[in-house]
Amino acid sequence: MRIAVIGTGYVGLVAGTCFADSGNDVTCVDIDESKIATLLEGQIPIYEPGLEELVERNAASGRLRFTTDLAAAVKDAQVVFIAVGTPQGEDGSADLNYVLDAARSIGSAITGYTVVVNKSTVPVGTAQKVHAVLSKVAKPGTFDVVSNPEFLKEGAAIDDFLSPDRVVIGSNSERARAIMGELYAPFTRRSNRILFMDPQSAEMTKYAANAMLATRISFMNEIAALCERVGADVDNVRLGMGTDSRIGLSFLFPGPGFGGSCFPKDIRALYSTARENGLDFSILNSVDRVNEQQKQLLLRKALKHFGGNVAGKHFAVWGLAFKPKTDDMRESPSLPLIEGLLGKGATVAAHDPVAHESAKRIFGDRIGYTDTPYGAVEGADALFIVTEWNEFRRPDFDRLKSLMRAPVIFDGRNVFDPERMAERGFTYRAIGRGQQNGDG
Ligand code: NAD
Repeated sequence: MRIAVIGTGYVGLVAGTCFADSGNDVTCVDIDESKIATLLEGQIPIYEPGLEELVERNAASGRLRFTTDLAAAVKDAQVVFIAVGTPQGEDGSADLNYVLDAARSIGSAITGYTVVVNKSTVPVGTAQKVHAVLSKVAKPGTFDVVSNPEFLKEGAAIDDFLSPDRVVIGSNSERARAIMGELYAPFTRRSNRILFMDPQSAEMTKYAANAMLATRISFMNEIAALCERVGADVDNVRLGMGTDSRIGLSFLFPGPGFGGSCFPKDIRALYSTARENGLDFSILNSVDRVNEQQKQLLLRKALKHFGGNVAGKHFAVWGLAFKPKTDDMRESPSLPLIEGLLGKGATVAAHDPVAHESAKRIFGDRIGYTDTPYGAVEGADALFIVTEWNEFRRPDFDRLKSLMRAPVIFDGRNVFDPERMAERGFTYRAIGRGQQNGDG
């Protein structure tokens, strides 16, 4: 099938590449000329495990192309995916300008029957809006609009895309459903789960799924806070709860607050949709509020430990991206922590295996970046663990202790065992692990 993907970010580039890998003829389009130039030079503008080889292989075979010329890419395509950003607008709702601009350009470029697919996360009713925009510029009967939300996780995006739990297709057109079913057949051989539904339900499914996951995290963060006050260990509680098959073990880890390009904006957009429809979806408000507070927790713990004053202290931060195996720093909990420390007169040296370039765009030279985790802890008054990269799980503790000015760790990911850390001579503050860790 001939496919165009509009927007070559974390979703568009992965989707386009995976479609090319299953034999389709794919053109990825972006308005960002530097992004396309990078791709044409054979490099990829983001970090995603496995993506570089897959792009290289499919580009070399001629099945995957990159361009800024949207009209040329759309002209002969049977399916056009819109995978542009839907950032948070000023009032909390999703900003649809990028989606509707892309739809306008697509409409003017369509020649024959084309399925236009919203892959971006968009509020209920957007398929109709895209349809209205297309109707103004394209001939009637030359297109159908489909809602096909994406569920991939950064850091595991290729596996998620090639082997999804399910594919959701929202469309009332039999013709469009048949084309989408054919396109996704190679990816659903294991589960055979293509869920066809109406566009509104498909749009809602994506927000409902993200809101549920975010709710689990904020819930566990509240449980963790309570554990600290009553002397319970949230890690025991997590296992005790999660092994109940009605609950399950996923998304029960407390931490320094969730970040990323999706959860924060998606819960706000869903809340906004609810309000527009006369409903006060108050759980979502609480999920967001708890998360904003949680993002200050590591800073609060440090201030408590240092008697309210960290001016002149030097801190190490392990992990900058919002989660492991990505360079994405959007809404990462490392941002408020580092800004907070700098704002209170401390200095920071950070190490992240892949996110230094992204971090430099935000912090510039206001912090130091080290090639190794050990480099960051040299002379540090304390170490913060913000992202749970595997390589942070089993450090050489003696070496850490000898490099640090004081053996103090604030662990936002509960990576280590508190008892063993005490035996090793560390002051160890984690999340929700008994009264001694309370942040007051
Ligand atoms: P991104 O910011 O990484 O990429 C979006 C790209 O679209 C940018 O490169 C931008 O230059 C380009 N663009 C904007 N307008 C354009 C236009 N008119 N023509 C061509 N290109 C244009 O965004 P992302 O993280 O890939 O997310 C895209 C969408 O997918 C969002 O709605 C997001 O909520 C959703 N989503 C993201 C993830 C994720 O993990 N990142 C997962 C599922 C769903």
